Amino acid sequence: MPDISIRSTDILVIGCGAAGMSAAAAAAVSGASVIVADDRMVPGGILPQCVHKGFGLARYNAEITGPEYAEREYLNLCGSSAVYMPGCRVLSLSADRTALISSEQGLLKLGFYECILATGCTERSLWSLPVSGTRPEGIYTAGEAQELIELGGYDIGSRIFILGSGDIGQIMARRFVQLGKTVIGMAELRDRLGGMKRNQDECIKAYDIPVMLNSTVTEVHGFPHLTGVTLHHFDSGTDESIECDTLISALGLDPDRSLAEGLMTADSYPDWLHFCGNADFVHEIADSASAQGEKLGKSLAERVMQNGKEV
Ligand SMILES: Cc1cc2nc3c(=O)[nH]c(=O)nc-3n(C[C@H](O)[C@H](O)[C@H](O)COP(=O)(O)OP(=O)(O)OC[C@H]3O[C@@H](n4cnc5c(N)ncnc54)[C@H](O)[C@@H]3O)c2cc1C
Repeated sequence: MPDISIRSTDILVIGCGAAGMSAAAAAAVSGASVIVADDRMVPGGILPQCVHKGFGLARYNAEITGPEYAEREYLNLCGSSAVYMPGCRVLSLSADRTALISSEQGLLKLGFYECILATGCTERSLWSLPVSGTRPEGIYTAGEAQELIELGGYDIGSRIFILGSGDIGQIMARRFVQLGKTVIGMAELRDRLGGMKRNQDECIKAYDIPVMLNSTVTEVHGFPHLTGVTLHHFDSGTDESIECDTLISALGLDPDRSLAEGLMTADSYPDWLHFCGNADFVHEIADSASAQGEKLGKSLAERVMQNGKEV
């Protein structure tokens, strides 16, 4: 049995993205003791890889990049008494209000009165669809591709096909063109583009990305590396062969509530467990995730301070 160190806090925030940072700062400023744990080594969650402008209009009345937005929120967090624990993955939550956390220093058992899940969301992968063929290299979700390119500095391919027209797919389509890659097209199952109008205008129209509506990928080809896909057009009922070395899926996001699994009784979560940011619902803009986190952090701190800490 490994050694487990034991600590406690009023409020545990899991996830140090836009939502978690503001929740932790607001709760600490309102007088609660707060620990914010995140499995990444740098704060900001998804923000550091979003190098494009388009953040902060509502919260800072300025159009800044994701890393700049993260920096502002992190400075705010640092100005509070909240304790930030990077590189710490919360492995499980228990009904007795404890969390088991894995860190470089070993396992930690942390007791808390309130817990905020600000764990973000997961991307639906290509393999969630009925796609036949090989399972080659060269297939990424849009967020994975963004992380590899912007944080890892990798060159992941040169002839790109994108399946799904959500915001992340549109932003990545523009990014690939800016990097000198060929974006062969973007296929969308529905009869219209997804995502925000801003991204449709600034990413798809402004960069002349070819859009194939009413169509989807049904088969992938090539091994060990991707050489192409079969695109089915629902309007005509025909199949088209498309040569590409990279397939990006932008099929949608789902709140990541995996830590809450098993805690639900009689259709409700325990009253000490709260959700914010993309773990609650998918926020189109970071400003809205931050605003929700801030409101929740403040109200939970007030609850802890007023009601005492009876478990
Ligand atoms: C490609 C892309 C482009 C975007 N463009 C814009 C834009 O232009 N303008 C805009 O305003 N918004 C944009 N957004 C939206 C915005 O970035 C998000 O809505 C917001 O940042 C989500 O914040 P969050 O805190 O909910 O989640 P996240 O940022 O995902 O943070 C969750 C954190 O929790 C951590 N975590 C998860 N599980 C655990 C665990 N068990 N233990 C410890 N840590 C854990 C994760 O590693 C992560 O660090 C974009 C999003 C994407 C993906």
